[in-house]
Amino acid sequence: MFTRREFLAGLGAASAIGARRVRAARYDVLIKGGRVIDPGQRLDRVTDVAIQGGRIRAVQPAIAIGEAADVVDASGKLVTPGWIDLHVHVGAPDLTPATLLHDGVTSMVDGGSAGADNIDALVGVARAAPNRVRILLNIARTGVTGPGELKDMAAADVDAARRAIARHREWIVGVKVRLSESVCGDQDLEALRRARQAAGPLPVMLHVGQTFSPLQKILELLEPGDIVTHPYSPPPHTVLDDNGRVLPEVRAARRRGIRFDVGNGRNGHITWPIVDAATRDGFWPDTISSDITGPGRTFRVFDLPTVVSKFLMLGMPLDQAMASVTTHAAAAVRAFKDLGTLRPGAPADVAILELKNGEFEFVDNVDAKRTGRVKLATTAVVMNGKRM
Ligand SMILES: [Zn+2]
Repeated sequence: MFTRREFLAGLGAASAIGARRVRAARYDVLIKGGRVIDPGQRLDRVTDVAIQGGRIRAVQPAIAIGEAADVVDASGKLVTPGWIDLHVHVGAPDLTPATLLHDGVTSMVDGGSAGADNIDALVGVARAAPNRVRILLNIARTGVTGPGELKDMAAADVDAARRAIARHREWIVGVKVRLSESVCGDQDLEALRRARQAAGPLPVMLHVGQTFSPLQKILELLEPGDIVTHPYSPPPHTVLDDNGRVLPEVRAARRRGIRFDVGNGRNGHITWPIVDAATRDGFWPDTISSDITGPGRTFRVFDLPTVVSKFLMLGMPLDQAMASVTTHAAAAVRAFKDLGTLRPGAPADVAILELKNGEFEFVDNVDAKRTGRVKLATTAVVMNGKRM
């Protein structure tokens, strides 16, 4: 039998051990020994990342594994800030934000799936998502529709859009407009003017490619911070002049703060000859986005790591490719300004990826095949300091 005194002494010792263990787990998660690429800090080296309380706490070598409750072995892997996909479509039931989280996409922007009439349902999807979803409101009240949401320009209702933005300020981060002739006929400039009017200080993301008007006319209407998606679209009206060089107006737009975003998608948005000519002329994208939908999951798009791998195949440097889905993408959306970095204090969103070597086939929007030597695949994700 214990005496009461011995019993209490024993309890005291046990709780002291418990307290020591709590103190020892200084970090919730430790990502150990990976090649950390954080372009915003010009960081590319093998080191450790320590996370506590949902925030990055330290990026330094040789943090003891005993200091963390959960250790992720990242040796041989890339460790980057959580990826941001600036152009997705997650409104439909066939593609949820959670699916994209497995790809390393910790934050995303829905690019105009919904308009003023059906925005509430999409806000519900964003609210329920395990990752961060923000929304570009389609200037058309219906959002994207198969036949073309701006066939009747009455759908581009500036007041209705403004009311929707006011109602969902936390979720709507800008306005989307699709300008292809198949969507809005010869009314592209008017559609863009209305989108700009509705957006006010927020950015407009405009979908270009096969427009009625030449790109130069469209670019004239933009404000710094606006985002041109699908810049590698095939004709008519590409980013190239008749000699296959990038239009001076496109370069001038970039200089005054217009961003150019890939938006891979399935149809009409990217073909190898256009992207070859543009990148040969030094015109790389600011951000790489997937424009993924449910059907895109198994056709031509697949996932954001695949789309980024295409640009590695095309010769984009690895750090620049990583910047295009982290720090550059974060800079495009005010709500994401603290994201896309592993700087201590930042929200702890981290992607851990394998850079596989081999022969990998990639297709453009007309199924032309190219073979790349490397391919990215996500192996682990930390979202808000928790391993998913
Ligand atoms: Zn889209």
